[in-house]
Amino acid sequence: MTIAIVGAGLGGLALARVLHVNGMDCVVYERESSRGARGQGGMLDIHSGQRALREAGLIDRFHAIARGEGQDMRLLEPDGTLLLQEDTPEDAPLERPEVDRADLRDLLLDSLPEETVRWGRAFESADDGVLRFADGSTATCGLLVGADGAWSRVRTLLTDARPAHIGQNIVEVGIPDIDRTHPELAAMVGRGNYWVLGDGLSLAAQRNGDGRVRIGLSFYNTPEDWFATSGIPFADPAAARARLIDLLRGWDPRFTALIAACDDTVVPRSIATLPVGLTWPSTPGVTLLGDAAHLMPPVGEGANMALLDGALLGLALAAHPDDFPTAVEEYEREMFERTGAAARMSAEIHELLTSPDAAQKMLAFFRPG
Ligand SMILES: Cc1cc2nc3c(=O)[nH]c(=O)nc-3n(C[C@H](O)[C@H](O)[C@H](O)COP(=O)(O)OP(=O)(O)OC[C@H]3O[C@@H](n4cnc5c(N)ncnc54)[C@H](O)[C@@H]3O)c2cc1C
Repeated sequence: MTIAIVGAGLGGLALARVLHVNGMDCVVYERESSRGARGQGGMLDIHSGQRALREAGLIDRFHAIARGEGQDMRLLEPDGTLLLQEDTPEDAPLERPEVDRADLRDLLLDSLPEETVRWGRAFESADDGVLRFADGSTATCGLLVGADGAWSRVRTLLTDARPAHIGQNIVEVGIPDIDRTHPELAAMVGRGNYWVLGDGLSLAAQRNGDGRVRIGLSFYNTPEDWFATSGIPFADPAAARARLIDLLRGWDPRFTALIAACDDTVVPRSIATLPVGLTWPSTPGVTLLGDAAHLMPPVGEGANMALLDGALLGLALAAHPDDFPTAVEEYEREMFERTGAAARMSAEIHELLTSPDAAQKMLAFFRPG
């Protein structure tokens, strides 16, 4: 019985890899035309997901591409007060290292037989084990796994739940090659995460492996259509930067200097999540993993959960190679509990970030008591 995985993201690829190391075949259908068709975004902090990489036999190769110093953290208030600074010692364990998303995806892709991923195959629908793709082609399978991310099409086979906006709108900007172009800002941001938390607005800067610093400005308690009314002219990057600086009125000039130093990439990102604790009745022949199953606020859990889902579903299928329904039931039982807890924690952190004294609350979160 063929296992068809829709989506070559981290979760789908972790599943394919764990199946492969356990001697089971699968096919991954991915709508992008090639691995490099779309930018993969910035860094991910990988903690619980390391177990998945161990099950995939890739933990040593992961450690080779992970950035331990990316665990550094600075937390500030908008007036420039430094509340917390944690620098990672050279010999610190790699508990939450940062890794470039593209590097991690490449690691998984390179660990699979060439023909596993079928690029350019956008899944449209499934009926009685027959999958239909946007290019008119079809395929059959014994188990369909929806690893197709936040706006999953496979999900509609199991639940009517849809992601809903959570009042957070992010504008992503960045400074390329910061060490050379703006050494003083590079020193300020440091080697890892740099957070400035204000009232209804936060700035999160993060150094990437390629020397770029990515900056996400989050506007909280804002409506879904906020980008249309925000006055940010996305088509005119210089004017967009000027408007963002305007929106940071009253903030320490070092923070607005960060925005002024950015290049012309200005990306709006509207944040939605699935209901916390979403479940569905187990249905033979189809299941979900990753964001398709439990889209959460972006506070550092999603990729870890997607990797774990993939690995644990792979292990369950390997344990029941002739009984996929039992494997799926076992997987879903554990997945619902684990990811429900992660979603609740993520929702609490999101709540904390939206509160007026977010910086102090975050300080208390990192330094309880
Ligand atoms: C700004 C931001 C920062 C984040 N930072 C972190 C972090 O530090 N740590 C962390 O753990 N998580 C983080 N996350 C969350 C993390 O990115 C996701 O949870 C994770 O990528 C989910 O993986 P996935 O495999 O489920 O889905 P995805 O990575 O979204 O992959 C889905 C794949 O399915 C494909 N696809 C979609 N539809 C179809 C279709 N119809 N047919 C075929 N293919 C299809 C897509 O092209 C894609 O390749 C962050 C998220 C955001 C937005």
